[in-house]
Amino acid sequence: MLWSAISTPTHDGRPTGGSIPRDGDRVDRVLRPQVPGVRAAFAAAVAQEEARAAVLTRLAEAERAREVTAEATRQAKLQSMGPCPAGYAWHREGGGWRCNGGSHTLSAGAAAAILGDA
Ligand SMILES: [Zn+2]
Repeated sequence: MLWSAISTPTHDGRPTGGSIPRDGDRVDRVLRPQVPGVRAAFAAAVAQEEARAAVLTRLAEAERAREVTAEATRQAKLQSMGPCPAGYAWHREGGGWRCNGGSHTLSAGAAAAILGDA
């Protein structure tokens, strides 16, 4: 979506690739509004990974290994059966999941259908 927005021909049909300042303005106009959402999603993903790491340190080694494997399985299923259209990984948000780019969500029901009991 982002890439097509950048590479779409101009309104008068000329292909993009004009002067550098003009393209720079266009890139800035397209990308800058996305910054807050991406920043918030990355912050949420980092906070969640830190919380998960804290939980893992409290688990016994065998239980920790089981949990690491289970999370890797969940992420692999999400990437293959419900990938973010922009290619980001997923983190939990509420009962569902949000991509680390911040623009896409999976409802709890959709995630359950993908993950089964993983
Ligand atoms: Zn996404």
